[in-house]
Amino acid sequence: MATRSLLKTTKLGVYSRQCLKTLGQQRTFTTKLTEQQQSIQELVRNFAQQHLKPNAAKHDKEALFPFEPIRQIKEMGLMGACASEDYGGMGMDYLSLALAVEELSRGCASTGLIVSIHNFLYLNLVNEKGTPEQKELFLKDFTRNCIGCFALSEPGAGTDVAGIRTRAKKDGDSWILNGTKHWVTNALEGKALVTFATIDPELRHKGLACFLVPVDTEGIFRGKKERIMSVSTSDRAATACTVTLEDVRLPDSYMVGQPGEGFRIAMEQLDQARIGIAAHAVGIAQSALDTAISYAKQRVAFGKPLTRVASVKDRLTEMCMLVETARLVTYRAAVDVSTKNSAMAKYIAGRNAAAVADHCVQILGGRGLSVNYDGERHYRDARGTQIYGGVTDIQKRLVGHFLLKEHDAL
Ligand SMILES: Cc1cc2nc3c(=O)[nH]c(=O)nc-3n(C[C@H](O)[C@H](O)[C@H](O)COP(=O)(O)OP(=O)(O)OC[C@H]3O[C@@H](n4cnc5c(N)ncnc54)[C@H](O)[C@@H]3O)c2cc1C
Repeated sequence: MATRSLLKTTKLGVYSRQCLKTLGQQRTFTTKLTEQQQSIQELVRNFAQQHLKPNAAKHDKEALFPFEPIRQIKEMGLMGACASEDYGGMGMDYLSLALAVEELSRGCASTGLIVSIHNFLYLNLVNEKGTPEQKELFLKDFTRNCIGCFALSEPGAGTDVAGIRTRAKKDGDSWILNGTKHWVTNALEGKALVTFATIDPELRHKGLACFLVPVDTEGIFRGKKERIMSVSTSDRAATACTVTLEDVRLPDSYMVGQPGEGFRIAMEQLDQARIGIAAHAVGIAQSALDTAISYAKQRVAFGKPLTRVASVKDRLTEMCMLVETARLVTYRAAVDVSTKNSAMAKYIAGRNAAAVADHCVQILGGRGLSVNYDGERHYRDARGTQIYGGVTDIQKRLVGHFLLKEHDAL
């Protein structure tokens, strides 16, 4: 079924409007999805299995950006998932978006990542923190037509966000930005960036400011795609590249919040991003489990299918439990958003996805290592989820920090 007719029959718009209405009421986590959330899950699952999964390996191998799927996803409204309806968004809650990212990533990890970063890191920031003028310029077109990016990391500062060196200097009513951003996902296809610069490096986190930047601004240079093993690469379907800012002049009105508020803004957005990457990891893990089950059912060894070999069945069972625990913590983080919950979700989902993909490779035997089978792609894709959106190591430290803080407060 074409996406357009899927949209008509399933009325995603109506469901998401209902989700928005229930968002305020949903304060505690329950494992039961609302009817609307189930409908979104089913709609996106059908779309991803029909339109993404058949081409995922091709996009990965041939390093093709999934333009046509992204066009269809835009038509479905998922590029404006949580944005206000006043600006063309769907007004969905975070859990609905996480469900969509999971299903998209189950079909094609690269497509899931593109959608996750655009929504959780760019769109939601503008929607929640932008001024009306900023929303006119940086939200309206981005809920339906354009892709947005989040440019925080630098060659010399990844985990250490307070160490960023891109400088912002005031010049009359403008700011002049100079610096280099690294690993900017969607940068080659994106039309605007959320970026961060320091007004004084000595101030560390207290010196950061957040800016919105159209990519066609004079002084913006996008580098070549990075060549790495996982989804969001040059060599793969999504893209990540370096963005250099040389004397980029921005009006005062393009600053989000105030000078000095950039660190808080970045951290709050990363809390959301981790929900998105956790959902993406759950989708990759589920896809690895799907691959393993399909293979084990048809592969015969010792006169019976692998599904009847005890150790293979044990592995499949273990994979199922790893996927399910990751899914639960991810959904909980999407409903009850906090630094601890989203760090825990990203840590568990990334780690579990890597373990599930490892089992998948093992079950496929020699074919698990072959580039002609899906196992090795799941393995590469799963590994990336432990790096981007914040490395696993820092997630664990964040959880530990809040664990002890909560204990002190008892
Ligand atoms: C495919 C891809 C896409 C990306 N997309 C984006 C994007 O769209 N926007 C963006 O801004 N960034 C993006 N990134 C950057 C990504 O977020 C960073 O790579 C990540 O945060 C880690 O930073 P780093 O690479 O500088 O590693 P470092 O910070 O140098 O860390 C290296 C290692 O040191 C250890 N370590 C460092 N600090 C700590 C600490 N405090 N506690 C515990 N261990 C620590 C960890 O083991 C860590 O893995 C992307 C990266 C990749 C690979």
